[in-house]
Amino acid sequence: MTALTAGLRDALGAEAVLTSAAERAPYERDWRGLVNNPALAVLLPRSPEQIAAAVKLCAAHGARIVPQGGNTSLVAGGVPAPGGDQVIISFSRLRAVRGIDPAGDTITVEAGLTLAELQGEAARAGRFFPVSLGAEGTAEIGGVISTNAGGLQVLSYGNMRAQVLGLEVVLADGAIWHGLSALRKDNTGYDLKQLFIGAEGTLGLITAATLRLYPPIAARAAALAGITTLAAGLEVFATLRHAAGPSLTMCEFCSGTALALGAAQLPGARLPFAAPAYLLVEISALAGGREPGEILEAVLAGELAQGRVGEAVIAQSERERLDLIALREAISEGELRAGGAVKHDIAVPLSRLPETIAAVEALVARKYPGFRLNIFGHVGDGNLHVNVLPPQGRGLAEIGSIKAEISADIEALAVQMHGSFSAEHGIGQLRLSAMAAHKSPVELAMMRAIKRAFDPDGLFNPGKTIPETT
Ligand SMILES: Cc1cc2nc3c(=O)[nH]c(=O)nc-3n(C[C@H](O)[C@H](O)[C@H](O)COP(=O)(O)OP(=O)(O)OC[C@H]3O[C@@H](n4cnc5c(N)ncnc54)[C@H](O)[C@@H]3O)c2cc1C
Repeated sequence: MTALTAGLRDALGAEAVLTSAAERAPYERDWRGLVNNPALAVLLPRSPEQIAAAVKLCAAHGARIVPQGGNTSLVAGGVPAPGGDQVIISFSRLRAVRGIDPAGDTITVEAGLTLAELQGEAARAGRFFPVSLGAEGTAEIGGVISTNAGGLQVLSYGNMRAQVLGLEVVLADGAIWHGLSALRKDNTGYDLKQLFIGAEGTLGLITAATLRLYPPIAARAAALAGITTLAAGLEVFATLRHAAGPSLTMCEFCSGTALALGAAQLPGARLPFAAPAYLLVEISALAGGREPGEILEAVLAGELAQGRVGEAVIAQSERERLDLIALREAISEGELRAGGAVKHDIAVPLSRLPETIAAVEALVARKYPGFRLNIFGHVGDGNLHVNVLPPQGRGLAEIGSIKAEISADIEALAVQMHGSFSAEHGIGQLRLSAMAAHKSPVELAMMRAIKRAFDPDGLFNPGKTIPETT
């Protein structure tokens, strides 16, 4: 046993320090199985104080730290980079709900609570927590904040950044920042919490957060509309947004391929009708608001008459609504089960979405014949997952270096359209080359300066987010 593991066992308890290869294995491999590097140990601390002690010990022994939540990152952010000098800190035992303030509509939770558990806590208190994504049963609050996750309801509630009022963070020198403010206004110097949100664990370790809650939703209506083109889908989205305003809580685009992969993943599920592509839309209402089903019916009837929607179903019950959403949420797992894809997470201005997708289709047809596109995502936010499946009968492992070439092409295309090469998944280990290619020297210099100020010895999450200087 090394001096580091002996010290960690003293500080955390022997059962909270996993060192055998078998115990470490599930923490070392990312969700898609693309990255798998060994860690020195996996720590399962129970309190911010134990985390602070672990940070000091790792710093003293020259080990570096990889924070890990639910390990659902799609860019291998929560697993070690190569090097063999990293200790994983899992937050899964920091699970307390520290308090709910009904008057202030806030909740304070520890980092290891899952997103689904947080939604449940809010509902039990007669409130609503809006961030929702396919991995919510596993993704943890610390991870969701550290990736500034988006998901299905960004349209009306914003992404995770919009929900965070205060944070508690363990810093690189082992100090604990008690920043669990519940204030909605506080202009006293730099808003420090913003630096940790979306920082992918490179600046500090989030141990707890105070988050906004919202009034409960009284009624919801969802529909699946078949569309022939993305351009038609954007017109339907604009009509719905004008009819429903902020009550339009979801507008997802799914290509026919994408929804078929989702249906194949769910036992007994089937698509209600076949279409080249679909919009999955949801309108929500607070108590006393206009009936969401009526708005949907009126808008979709108009769109059917105009020919922008070919066929549509409106969920007639809560079960049917959840079944429609399940189809969408199963796409990523269906895609993985079908062999995986070269994944992308781009955002472009809404007006440029149709030309971007046309350009992607042309690029793939010309340069990568036989490769197939699986496109889906949060079209209302201008954010689409443009995933490229290998030719039928070939696995991802067989296409080798073509993967990096495809990604470089698609990321460059998004940037050319004045967009982002990573809209909501972050950078992790898998988008570092895009950071180097597309962030300006000025932006990279500012990011490096912030990193140096918070973490001068490069203790937190090495090999992630900010490319090394060459
Ligand atoms: C099926 C599926 C669907 C998804 N859908 C969406 C979607 O719609 N929208 C979206 O935005 N993302 C989506 N994701 C991506 C992923 O779920 C999110 O990025 C999620 O926020 C990650 O949370 P996690 O707890 O799993 O974090 P991890 O994967 O464990 O870590 C993510 C990053 O946060 C850091 N981190 C984790 N915990 C802490 C902490 N306490 N303090 C500091 N740093 C920390 C890690 O080091 C890493 O850099 C999806 C993933 C899957 C598998």
